[in-house]
Amino acid sequence: MQESRTDQRSKTRIAIDLENRYGAHNYHPLPVVLERGKGVFVWDVEGKRYYDFLSAYSAVNQGHCHPRLVKAMQQQAETLTLTSRAFYNSDLGNYAEYVCTLFGYGRMLPMNTGAEAVETAIKMARRWGYQKKGIAKDRAKVVVCAGNFHGRTITIVSASTDPDSNSDFGPYTPGFVVVPYNDIPALEKALADPDVCAFLFEPIQGEAGVFVPDDDFIATAIRLCRARNVLSMADEVQTGIARTGRMLCTEHSGERPDVTILGKAVSGGMYPVSLVLADSGVMDVFTPGSHGSTFGGNPMAARMAMEALEIVKQERLAENADRLGRIFRTGMQELVDEFPYVKLVRGKGLLNALVIEPRTAVDGSPKTAWELCLLLRDNGLLAKPTHGDIIRFAPPLVITEEQLMECMRIIALSVRQFA
Ligand SMILES: *Cc1c(COP(=O)(O)O)cnc(C)c1O
Repeated sequence: MQESRTDQRSKTRIAIDLENRYGAHNYHPLPVVLERGKGVFVWDVEGKRYYDFLSAYSAVNQGHCHPRLVKAMQQQAETLTLTSRAFYNSDLGNYAEYVCTLFGYGRMLPMNTGAEAVETAIKMARRWGYQKKGIAKDRAKVVVCAGNFHGRTITIVSASTDPDSNSDFGPYTPGFVVVPYNDIPALEKALADPDVCAFLFEPIQGEAGVFVPDDDFIATAIRLCRARNVLSMADEVQTGIARTGRMLCTEHSGERPDVTILGKAVSGGMYPVSLVLADSGVMDVFTPGSHGSTFGGNPMAARMAMEALEIVKQERLAENADRLGRIFRTGMQELVDEFPYVKLVRGKGLLNALVIEPRTAVDGSPKTAWELCLLLRDNGLLAKPTHGDIIRFAPPLVITEEQLMECMRIIALSVRQFA
């Protein structure tokens, strides 16, 4: 039955009103109500199609509802979903071997969300600090970067410098030292403290607005950590899984961090799967009973992750992200050159951001990244602003060159209408 436009619009209103009425207001979503997805596309409740340029914060790198993932999920759902780690299951061992081989580490520890994996890495680093480095009891410190985003738990927001994330959530977990991002002298100074057990960093700061550090920052940071007997811990929850043109973003640096933290696209966004990778000398500080998760390492997660990672390899998504990312930034640079209110484009692979100059229209209405995102939405492309002046562009990595060209035309049109 064909519904009228008014009825369809009211579907959008109803969904938004219900969420606002009964849901906690801990997000400020763009006003669009999605009900279906396929590859790079999502459809709203009115039937309008959009290019998804957020990819659920880089969780759906493999595209929406990838048929291989749907099939794996269906099969596993009919077989076995959860055992807890009180027993062994027939998939976790295969999965552990698979990710250790793929990413080049000795051991893995499975969790569910990104924040849990970050928490796991912090616990591991502290224990390693006491048991292996000889730090005095309860003195261990973890160095983090200003502008970081590592998740939402109390401990993680204790390490945050963003007042939106942590104000009125104290008392905070102690033991963090903040240094500016991309500042080697400051890092070097912080690492000289013998109580430091780890340096936790994002290879590119995603939530902060896609801040790409200098070319040699990551390599130098990892080498400094090694020289100071400090664990280097890369939070690749957003940058990992081919997003930046390599399977892991740290591969660009040529150095392997001691610890890699993964989540989001590990399962293609179809199931919460996260993990921590390290070698046995570090990971073996965990002993039975010292850490765990009811859902971590369940057979569904193991199967989904293996299938999702195979898709990334077989569809050569890292190569695609690398190649199309260059084309995208070249196209965006033309907008930077043409429009004074488009200040710059930055990024790596298909994790990019456009920085715009927020201003006020002649009629007094604001013209910020939010308004530009509304124009993009009207023109059929969904992206989310951050900090008022930054728009992140992160399409599923299965996007084709032809589709990307169309998206660049949509962005150019919207930028022109933003005048
Ligand atoms: C999204 C994200 C997290 C947190 O992941 P959740 O699954 O939301 O807990 C941690 N670190 C980085 C870099 C992220 O982008």
